Formats: sequence, structure tokens, C-alpha cells
Amino acid sequence: MTQRIAILRELGLTPAWRERTPAPRGSVQATDDRSVAVENSPATVAEAARELSRDQCIASATWDELTHSIAKCTACKLHRTRHRTVPGVGDRAPTWMIVGEGPGEQEDQRGEPFVGAAGRLLDAMLAAIGKRRGHGVYITNVVKCRPPGNRNPEAEEIAACAPYLRRQIALAQPKLLLAVGKTAAQTLLNRDATVGALRGSTAQYETTPVQVTYHPSYLLRTPIDKAKAWADLLRALDIAP
Ligand code: SF4
Repeated sequence: MTQRIAILRELGLTPAWRERTPAPRGSVQATDDRSVAVENSPATVAEAARELSRDQCIASATWDELTHSIAKCTACKLHRTRHRTVPGVGDRAPTWMIVGEGPGEQEDQRGEPFVGAAGRLLDAMLAAIGKRRGHGVYITNVVKCRPPGNRNPEAEEIAACAPYLRRQIALAQPKLLLAVGKTAAQTLLNRDATVGALRGSTAQYETTPVQVTYHPSYLLRTPIDKAKAWADLLRALDIAP
């Protein structure tokens, strides 16, 4: 505790301490409580201060600065195997922000989220409700670099990337967050539950409504659940047309 206070004083921060329970698989829950970053930071003072400084830079970045920062990011091991970073694409003042899990193989090659078969299904679902990427819609992922072999991102990777998503939401100020898939839902809502348990009602990220639905990749494998995803989209449309 003494060490943490010393770091925060050194950086000119005087946050209120707050007890928190660990978030499932990392969390993007909005916070100005810098103690959280220090609480989870590496052991040494120098490393903790660096991490805190990184978080502060991201928290005040513009869109372009964010893109640049992500392109150079080495904060987790996913940077070693990525070909391109995938920060996000679309309208920077959107009605909807769609948040997926992480880039797949084609996304990693092109630097754009949701391309390939899952992306085409997402685009088709959006078109069916009169929406399309780039027009009132911003699309991003929880992690901005591809997990090798399309494995799920690990908690440490989600936590390392969380400041980027947090800043994207703050900059975009969407009317609705559409969390597609378990990783996005758990990260945005800070809850360890299945998509089936989280969808069907509207939760909140700060003051922004969050609608949870199935990931298009899952729907390609499990088309029977497309009807549920359709119901989720209609519910989302009711909240933020
Ligand atoms: Fe950085 Fe996020 Fe890529 Fe990890 S996944 S290297 S935190 S941009």
C-alpha cells in the first residue's frame, strides 16, 4: 500500500481507494481509479509507474493517437504473432458500437475487424435492420491483436488491451454497445456468465445500454440460434434506432 501511494503521489494522482473483486477474464469496466491499475501491476515500482503512465496516455488519446498507439503496442504477448493490429473500423460518432472478441486470421491480414464469413453474416444481420458498418456503426474487438490459432484471449491479454476499448467507448459515446459473444459480454459487463444467461435483458456499461448477443462465428456453427440473435437485434434497435 505504501508503495502504491508513493507511485501515485509521484504521478500527481490522489485517487480514492476502492475495494474491487477481480473481474472475470480481465475487464474493461470504466474507472478513473488509478489504484486498480497499480493493484494489478507488476511488482516493481518502475514497472508499475510505466503501466500507470501508459494507462493515462491512452485515457486522454484522440482517435488517431489511439490507432498509432495500438499499432506500436507490445503490452501483451499477442504482439509477437500478429501481422497487423486491428483497432476498429467505422463511424467514430456511432449510434451502435459493436464489440467482438478478437481478430481472426483474415482480420489479422487485413487490419479490419469482422471480415470473412463471420463478418459477412454480421453485415447481413445489420443490413436486415437497416444498418451497415461505417454508417452509425463502429466495430471493434476486446483485443486488437489476433490470438494464435483463434484461441480465446487470455485474461492478462484482455486486461492489457482494456484501456484501448475503454477509450474507444469514451470517444465514440455510442447510444448502444452490442456485445457479440461471451468474451465481449463478460468484459463489458464484468460478469462471469454465458451469452445465454446475459442476453435477453439490457445491462449497462456506465450509462450506456449493453445488448448481448451471439457471435456470428457461433451462429455459423449453430444456425438454430439465429432466431435468438435476431430477437436481440430487434431489442437493440428498440433501445437505439
Ligand atoms: Fe497491445 Fe492489445 Fe495487441 Fe496486446 S492485444 S499487444 S494489449 S494492442
